[in-house]
Amino acid sequence: MRIKLLRSSTGNDPQLQALTTYLVNDFLAIDGGSIGLALSPQQMPTIRHIVITHAHSDHIASLPIFLSEVLTELKSPVTVYALPEVVSALRDFIFNDHIWPNFENIPLLAGNGSALQFRVITPGESFEIDEISLTAVRVNHVVPTVGLRVQDRRTAVIFTSDTYITDDIWEVARGTRHLKAIFVDVSYPNELESLAAAAKHLTPQTLASELLKLGQAVEVYATHIKPGSREQVRLQLGELRSPRVSVVEVGRVYEW
Ligand SMILES: [Zn+2]
Ligand SMILES: [Zn+2]
Repeated sequence: MRIKLLRSSTGNDPQLQALTTYLVNDFLAIDGGSIGLALSPQQMPTIRHIVITHAHSDHIASLPIFLSEVLTELKSPVTVYALPEVVSALRDFIFNDHIWPNFENIPLLAGNGSALQFRVITPGESFEIDEISLTAVRVNHVVPTVGLRVQDRRTAVIFTSDTYITDDIWEVARGTRHLKAIFVDVSYPNELESLAAAAKHLTPQTLASELLKLGQAVEVYATHIKPGSREQVRLQLGELRSPRVSVVEVGRVYEW
């Protein structure tokens, strides 16, 4: 399995992360934050499936741009998988023929069907996309949000998406065989704990207590660090003295 966090900073430091999109095996995307701005026109049409963990802007920001970029290349619809609340939000507030066209009603130029189709996902029920099996798990964020377990026959990886203190995703992680890595939200430094609690994100300190629930030795990659807090969060993660905890590298292909 190959996983890459796409670039979302156009400034001098490509490691700053403002938006979230992970690519899994080049054809499946998790979240649509940077999906429409980090890839070449040739790369974009290879992505046919997109799982949206929640409707916050940093996770959907360039999904509309992506769809308009790939429209003329599509021979079958792009499928977006999300909770019912997220599908409703995307239909009502984004693809509403005001902010952006309703791609569910736009027929493909070079194929059958429409440009976009939604598939509603249910937490706890696994679903398959080609050779990949995914399980959504509700996490503790300010809007309906799921983390994801992504598995093939040999490897499992977990994405917490945006979350504060929570139990279910750690329980799933504890019981997952062949788990190689967890990509976890560590948005703010310890001194901003009250903001982190209000916005429902982890800090290095709350991550440390969450990791006690994990019960197995896997790589833990801190993601979603607010660009202005990056150095502070990196220092505080180092103070945890855990060899398995590190900051995710934007643009690196992680392969297992
Ligand atoms: Zn969020
Ligand atoms: Zn976010």
